[in-house]
Amino acid sequence: MADIQKRLSELAAAVDNPKERLEYYLGQGKKVVGCFPAYTPEELVHASGMIPMGLWGAQTEWKEVKRYLPAFACPIMQSNLELGLRGAYKGLSAVIIPTLCDTFRCVSQDWRFAVEDIPMIPVTHPQNNANEGSTDFLVSEYESVLNKLSVITGMRMTDAALEETIEIYNEHSRLMQEFAQTANDHLDVITPAIRHIVMKSAQFYEKAEHSEIMKDIIEELKNMPKHNFTGKKVILSGITAEPTEILDILAEYKIAVVGDDLVQESHQYRVLIPEKGGSAVRRLALQWKNRKGCSLVHEDFKSRGEMLVELAKANEAAGAVYCQMKFCDPEEYDYPICARTLRAAGIQVLQLDIDQQKGSFEQARTRIQTFAEML
Ligand code: SF4
Repeated sequence: MADIQKRLSELAAAVDNPKERLEYYLGQGKKVVGCFPAYTPEELVHASGMIPMGLWGAQTEWKEVKRYLPAFACPIMQSNLELGLRGAYKGLSAVIIPTLCDTFRCVSQDWRFAVEDIPMIPVTHPQNNANEGSTDFLVSEYESVLNKLSVITGMRMTDAALEETIEIYNEHSRLMQEFAQTANDHLDVITPAIRHIVMKSAQFYEKAEHSEIMKDIIEELKNMPKHNFTGKKVILSGITAEPTEILDILAEYKIAVVGDDLVQESHQYRVLIPEKGGSAVRRLALQWKNRKGCSLVHEDFKSRGEMLVELAKANEAAGAVYCQMKFCDPEEYDYPICARTLRAAGIQVLQLDIDQQKGSFEQARTRIQTFAEML
């Protein structure tokens, strides 16, 4: 127990202070590249010998960003651009910004002109990944990212280096999947907030390093007797489920998180990079082709609702919390479809507004309290 607490505290410290992680890698003489959410090909950064670090916003006041974004842009992008404008990301060699929605597209161009000391590398995913030419298109996008990364490193990433990185990333994803399952037998130790910290912390570590920590945590959990949890169980869906105050309120009402469909959490780990399919860059592009059930991936007939029902049933969850990122259009479009499918399967649904600005959580508390009574 002592060891697991030590490991969990290490991860909590990284999530609380990513800047310290940045300084740590810079102090080792490494170059660090900021990766905006989501599905940014961080493997290309890793295989180029640099450290990819996730940029998922923060609870911060928006001042400078008001010159660039309207008030109705989503909180993650407001925070990321605000922090960029304030110089909080000083030390990054570049940022990679995907263009998966209209807000992303605006932010990529704002960044280019407003944060001149950190180069911006755009990457465009073919959102209709079922389209025949989508993989070829994504390979060409990844090649363009590699060209820009090679300007920073002074050399070109090799296919062999990416093969090695893919093994590291696939092993890490398997460990994160194993953690998610093992955690459900220890809901006394892995509270909703701790689960979130573990899942998010990977963004601030080199992945092989994070895998070592995860092996310790999983082993410690497996050595502990299973806990008989008597509260209510839910799954989470959305982009992120932050700030942690919301997760603490769930725990206060004896609600455990037993699965998630969050872009910031399980989406990062649930689709492995295929073992076969051509060159390493092509295999990486094929991972995108296998993604579904996400508001950022086009599907003629959305499968997300059914996937949520399956996730809830597999983990005996009575409810689903749809963490609605404020002003996120793609998520707003998906909500009615997901809610209808979940309710038809007898699973209760709570839609909670997610914001990154500091504020009161009393409204969320009242809604969670009512939801707990319905489960
Ligand atoms: S997908 Fe949603 S949360 Fe992500 S950048 Fe676009 S609007 Fe913001």
